[in-house]
Amino acid sequence: MHCAGPLQQPGVVLVPRNNRPKKQKKQEPEPELKLDLIRIGSRRTEFKRGVEYTVQPTNGMNAEDGKTWVCPHCSQTIRPGVSHLTAWDAIRGIDTRRHFHTRCWAAFMGALL
Ligand SMILES: [Zn+2]
Repeated sequence: MHCAGPLQQPGVVLVPRNNRPKKQKKQEPEPELKLDLIRIGSRRTEFKRGVEYTVQPTNGMNAEDGKTWVCPHCSQTIRPGVSHLTAWDAIRGIDTRRHFHTRCWAAFMGALL
C-alpha cells in the first residue's frame, strides 16, 4: 500500500503571510512606562538581609505641591526637587513604600515598617 496520494489536504493549504505584523509598531514601547523611565530613572531590585526590595530613583519633581517626605533612616526631611529614591518591600507591596535619601538607602539595613 502506497501513500502516493496528494500530499496537500484540502484546508491545509499554506497561506502566504501577507498580513505580518507591522514592524513600525514595535518602536513605541508603552508611552506611559517610557515617560516614567525618562523622568525618574530605572527601577531595580535590591536585597537587604534576604528581603527583596523594589527601588525606584526619583528626582523629586513629580511631587505634589509642597510635599515633603521624612527619610526613615535619618529622620530628615527630603524636600521636593531633591533626587532621592523610593523603596518598598517587593513581597509586601507598595504599601510599604518609603522615600530615602540615596545614601541613606545604601546604609539602610532594617525592615520597612
Ligand atoms: Zn536620610
